[in-house]
Amino acid sequence: MGKKIIIVGGVAGGASAAARLRRLNEQDEIVLVERGEHVSFANCGLPYYIGETIDSRDKLFLQTPKGIQQRFNIDVRTLTEVTAIDRASKHVITRNVTTGEILEIPYDILILSPGARPVVPQIPGIASADNLFTLRNIPDTDRIKAYVDHQHPKHATVIGAGFIGLEMAENLRERGLEVTVIDRGTQILNPLDPEMARPVEEHMRLHGVEFKLNEGVEAVSQAGRLLQLASGESLATDMIILAIGVAPENELARNSGLELGVRGAVKVNTSLQTSDPAIYAVGDVIEVKDKIQDFETMVSLAWGANRQGRLAADHINGRSIAYDGALGTAIIKTFGLTSALTGNNEKTLKSLGVPYEAIHIHPNSHAGYYPGAAPIAIKLLFNPHTGEIYGAQAVGSEGADKRIDVIATAIRGNLKADELADIELAYAPPYSSAKDPVNMAGYVASNVMDGMVKNLQWHEVEDFSRNGGLIIDVRDEVERLAGYIPGSISIPLSGLRNRLDEIPSGQEIAVSCQVGLRGYIAARMLIQHGFNVKNVDGGYKTYAVMNRDRGEDPQGDKKVIVADSSLPEAEDQAVSDPIEQRLMLDACGLQCPGPILKVYETVKSMKEGQQLEITATDFGFAADIRQWCLKTQNTLESVDVSGGKVQALVRKGIPEPADASSSLPGSEGRDLKDGTTMVVFSSDLDKTIASFIIATGAAAMGKQVTMFFTFWGLNLLRREQAPRVEKKGLDKMFGLMMPQGTRKLPLSRMNMGGLGAKLIRHTMKRKNVDSLEELMQGAIHAGVKLMACTMSMDIMGIKQEELIAGVEFGGVASYLGAAEDSGVNLFI
Ligand SMILES: Cc1cc2nc3c(=O)[nH]c(=O)nc-3n(C[C@H](O)[C@H](O)[C@H](O)COP(=O)(O)OP(=O)(O)OC[C@H]3O[C@@H](n4cnc5c(N)ncnc54)[C@H](O)[C@@H]3O)c2cc1C
Repeated sequence: MGKKIIIVGGVAGGASAAARLRRLNEQDEIVLVERGEHVSFANCGLPYYIGETIDSRDKLFLQTPKGIQQRFNIDVRTLTEVTAIDRASKHVITRNVTTGEILEIPYDILILSPGARPVVPQIPGIASADNLFTLRNIPDTDRIKAYVDHQHPKHATVIGAGFIGLEMAENLRERGLEVTVIDRGTQILNPLDPEMARPVEEHMRLHGVEFKLNEGVEAVSQAGRLLQLASGESLATDMIILAIGVAPENELARNSGLELGVRGAVKVNTSLQTSDPAIYAVGDVIEVKDKIQDFETMVSLAWGANRQGRLAADHINGRSIAYDGALGTAIIKTFGLTSALTGNNEKTLKSLGVPYEAIHIHPNSHAGYYPGAAPIAIKLLFNPHTGEIYGAQAVGSEGADKRIDVIATAIRGNLKADELADIELAYAPPYSSAKDPVNMAGYVASNVMDGMVKNLQWHEVEDFSRNGGLIIDVRDEVERLAGYIPGSISIPLSGLRNRLDEIPSGQEIAVSCQVGLRGYIAARMLIQHGFNVKNVDGGYKTYAVMNRDRGEDPQGDKKVIVADSSLPEAEDQAVSDPIEQRLMLDACGLQCPGPILKVYETVKSMKEGQQLEITATDFGFAADIRQWCLKTQNTLESVDVSGGKVQALVRKGIPEPADASSSLPGSEGRDLKDGTTMVVFSSDLDKTIASFIIATGAAAMGKQVTMFFTFWGLNLLRREQAPRVEKKGLDKMFGLMMPQGTRKLPLSRMNMGGLGAKLIRHTMKRKNVDSLEELMQGAIHAGVKLMACTMSMDIMGIKQEELIAGVEFGGVASYLGAAEDSGVNLFI
């Protein structure tokens, strides 16, 4: 006589348990109760059916109720809901959702796999929205697809930038809709750390998805056609996908008195038994332990549900099992990019106060010389003392999945971070490199563990500079054209050994290159010469991800980031001048900064106005080329990302509008004068406060503001604790006489030996007016460009490293260039 086993929920966890139960035992009576019409369907495939990548609805059904019944001799009761559990008498109550028939079924063992349902928040007006959808099952899918197919919405709003939200954003975009994703957080894809998620966001923007982060929906009106946002904005939309997360379907467990844990998830032991040993629970409904740090959490992913379903069946049949927690290994495709992760992220480690070290690397997916190689950004987190691997994240157009799977396996096998170098992985040029990216992560981790180098993280750079650290950019000068860390000085690696006397001893130094490799070589060199050195981890590439704007396109032309192709001359030239042939540049497989260097070399030999079309597999190239064009006065006409490649069209120079001279105030030509320049000559506290108030105000009005600091004005930019710089004669004298930093500035009148300045500061504080230092920070934050006049720096003997971070350096030409585009030009 077999056992009577009832399973609640017939999809991932439930169907797995059912099949395993039967394979282990022919005698047991197994009843599978499912509220919906379908069992064992591919919920993970639903967004792709809506997007029509999966072309047939039938393909979503992995099994039918009849199929399960026939193959496994399981009593499948679809359209039937379990409404209550009577634990004392070991019965469940079921209700047929179509006929309303109520039945009482006895059980010896009960398995709960009811999953988790989408969270629907109490937003005013949400109930009356007839265009609002959540996505969990086949009926949801049918409703969304029918709406897109028959109502032809033009614009969709996806609320929630998690896995399901982004998959829906991609698929709706593929169906031709304009898509806006709204999320309350500051980043998308919360399981990733921000510097790993930002490229994904940028990539999706390039594919036309608009993001509104730090934003919430406060109210819904006009039956879902108008959204009132937290920022005060309103957003007109044709349909809404709500994907802000899931909550465990815990009603049965709660009502029958089973113990619940985090966020109401059902507590289970390592045998997957609830607080009642006759009742097992698996899948999205349960609380799991974080495998690495042991805290309680919920992981709503298919692997866990399937694994737990099988393990529960094993335990029921007397096999010894121990479910020991989840790594949360996950992956998502967003157009041409793959993002994958396993284990803990940095945010979690920080919040737990766990000592950790992070490394960022950017290796190629396979040998660079074999076509199609593309970089993968990999982040590895580990304990620097024990080497325990805490987690990893990878983003790239190829090969991110494989690397995260290998690292997840390594974590499972208790390998240490440095042992990643020992894993012997399959290699041939189309697939990998003789040093696979996973091996590379191992090498870099072992360098950190062995104390060969100390890292400076992207988010530590600003403080490092502010506290007097000197950053040496060891890339070639030309690479700086695509951007550099503000305040960094340039000493290319090739000349570093001969220029050691230029580096102040006794000062903290950080070296920075493009991806961290040359930085490591430089750091090793400098350490051996007695310098106190850190390497900017992941190089400028990692730093820049979080220190450039998001590439939003205010014009609304989603494929063009910096578009000047609307200028008539630009279009005419391409057509009318056949000798100005468009050049093609294949930079695929080149590691950053390779593509930019190639562009630089090619553009040098091109004629003004000529176009260059570049194809690169480095997805970061989209941002790099934008920056490079801005810095080098070339025109980025378009950037397109498709098939895992970035395609950029660059025109040499900046074309004049056809009739620039005739543009009148109020006409389009006015944009060109939309700047404000200020020459800050004075170092009087009151005057400089005024200058920053005006500058911030102008920036807030959307003006491009450049403050040009010359002579005494340079004192404002001096660091309070500047690095020691060797000076002689007059330079030394000037240095000693001039106020160093903002706190030493005098008032222009009634200074009274510094008392006046103190009084002003005190009054400003009392009246809640920002201090000069706050005003300066605010101005920088608002995008005001601070430019130090190199000519007066030279006269006054002020060196780059004595100035605060974020300052740019320029001569009269830079000032005149900015002034030319300005409607307002002030001298303070
Ligand atoms: C759109 C979408 C995409 C996803 N993509 C991925 C992905 O790419 N990768 C990944 O790892 N995970 C993904 N997931 C998550 C994954 O599908 C879930 O983690 C997994 O299905 C959970 O399995 P489960 O058995 O716990 O719950 P489910 O698979 O949700 O099954 C629960 C079933 O129980 C039924 N039920 C609930 N209560 C009762 C009751 N009282 N009586 C009878 N029946 C009941 C429900 O109708 C439901 O069919 C995705 C989920 C969705 C919705």
